[in-house]
Amino acid sequence: MLNFTVGPVMSDQETLAIGGEQVPYFRTQEFSNIMLENEVLMKEFVNAPDSAKVVFITGSGTASMEAAVMNVFTSSDKLLVVDGGSFGHRFTEICDIHHIPYTAITPKKGHVVTPEMLMEYDQKGYTGLLVNIHETSTGVYYDAAMLGDFCRRNNLIYVIDAISSFLADPLDMSDVGADIVITGSQKVLACAPGISVIVLSEKALDRIENNETKTMYLDLKSALKNAERGQTPFTPAVGILRQINARLRRIKHNGGASTEIAKIKRQAEDFRNKIKGLPFEIVSESISNALTPLHPTTASAYDIFIQLKDNYGIWICPNGGDMKDTIFRVGHFGAQTCEDNDTLIAAFSDMQKKGII
Ligand SMILES: *Cc1c(COP(=O)(O)O)cnc(C)c1O
Repeated sequence: MLNFTVGPVMSDQETLAIGGEQVPYFRTQEFSNIMLENEVLMKEFVNAPDSAKVVFITGSGTASMEAAVMNVFTSSDKLLVVDGGSFGHRFTEICDIHHIPYTAITPKKGHVVTPEMLMEYDQKGYTGLLVNIHETSTGVYYDAAMLGDFCRRNNLIYVIDAISSFLADPLDMSDVGADIVITGSQKVLACAPGISVIVLSEKALDRIENNETKTMYLDLKSALKNAERGQTPFTPAVGILRQINARLRRIKHNGGASTEIAKIKRQAEDFRNKIKGLPFEIVSESISNALTPLHPTTASAYDIFIQLKDNYGIWICPNGGDMKDTIFRVGHFGAQTCEDNDTLIAAFSDMQKKGII
């Protein structure tokens, strides 16, 4: 299957080979060295401040979203949550579960948050802001610098879920003033699913140190303590952490985050140029390099997903809920090439010829 979803995506040969190896014992200096290097490279690729620390959580991206929120905030906080799609909504659900007060900012689907929309929350006693910088469900890409300015002015803890944006779009944690940046193994890192990563600023670390969080598995205090020597409190997904290490090293060898971002940008632009004659409209007003959200004007989005899967051996990403029939998404990351884009476009053209779209 040719995979244009938003994760898991196709892995390169090196990553696949590691997946086929025996999983080594991990309470060793050798594994600690891998973890310490993973931390250094993660910090480098988001330009984290020197004082930042990184934890690797065994669990998908949502585990790190929940861990970040529950370890950093308490019921005394008052948060702003950008709820522009299903991932933004997930942050509100996490706050509900952990009794953390918040106000949801709800831009219309496919629209960004503007400085005007933030005005009513300026100097109103908020303590943090949560955003999925690329809201993968609708494909909207928010402005991290603009939100960062607002957070700076209001002295907010700034949390960026960059799970589908890390290594697809430029993100400078120091420059935008983010306190927390989250990503996951199955998006642009293109490894197996099961690991998520949290980069924490000094301000976030202080909060964690001083909060009493009721959790065992997602306790970041204990994760941070263990991370000092390149270890984790419990058995992590050792094999995936080794895949991540190989990927991060390869990216570094090829020129760093900017080279990887440029590659994905080329892949996205190639696709966007090639769909020009097809009956699809790009739906969001600001989009990431990671994916293209499309509204088919002549057929059901979900039917297109099924046809491609069953008749052409291609996965694109369907949408759920009220967007099921109106939007599908094409991802541009993982081990895919412009020739793969041609194969997808040829399938679309064939469907057009047959009157399906
Ligand atoms: C993929 C993704 C997640 C995490 O989803 P999991 O299924 O828990 O890995 C969270 N936020 C965004 C923006 C995502 O794209």
